[in-house]
Amino acid sequence: MSTIIVQALIEKTKDFSIEETFAFLADEYKGKVVFSTSFGQEDQVITALIANSNTAINIFTLDTGRLFQETYDVFHKTLKKYKKHIEVYFPEAAAVQNLLNAKGPNSFYESVENRKECCFIRKVAPLTKALKGNSVWITGLRAEQSENRNDLHLFEYDSKFEIIKFNPLLKWTLKEVEDYIELNNVPQNALHKKGFVSIGCAPCTRAIAEGEDIRAGRWWWESSHKECGLHQG
Ligand code: SF4
Repeated sequence: MSTIIVQALIEKTKDFSIEETFAFLADEYKGKVVFSTSFGQEDQVITALIANSNTAINIFTLDTGRLFQETYDVFHKTLKKYKKHIEVYFPEAAAVQNLLNAKGPNSFYESVENRKECCFIRKVAPLTKALKGNSVWITGLRAEQSENRNDLHLFEYDSKFEIIKFNPLLKWTLKEVEDYIELNNVPQNALHKKGFVSIGCAPCTRAIAEGEDIRAGRWWWESSHKECGLHQG
């Protein structure tokens, strides 16, 4: 059933612009279309498109409690510029408290299991809460961000969160994203000018060197597993 719906959405929107697709989805799934932002470049483009198209799409973010100050700064600027509410989801306080009491503040460096445990508490569990009851989840995924995003489609069914995913920037290049930001004066994270491309939690993100893989700065001490569990491979 979900495959049929996804195929129908791909067919229905194939000649639509991104803004037209937003409007169609907002009408088709009233009050149940959400966009998750982490204030990265792609997400900022999507926020600008949503704000400019004035469609009834709700935006939310996951505050893991370990973000960079620069991320909060761009969050603040985005609220000021677009006057669009961004709902914040925090991890459960008791879960974070138990984790730190049991393993200390930096357990994610010690093993992949510990890292996934922290990502689950701070990201996956709050995301599950944020997506609950919604029908469409808009994301800033791009195919060239990582190998396992190459075979994604504009619309997907995410069986983990039981929701339709719309990836409007899937085919965009990084240059197209940067050009849109420049042309439309979209607020962006100051860390992008310091060599950070994909930006997540402060202890788990570093700048990358020229020519390095886009996601090389995420969990750089791990040789694989470079996903936090929000998006299926
Ligand atoms: Fe924890 Fe790092 Fe995952 Fe953030 S990215 S939730 S700090 S392991």
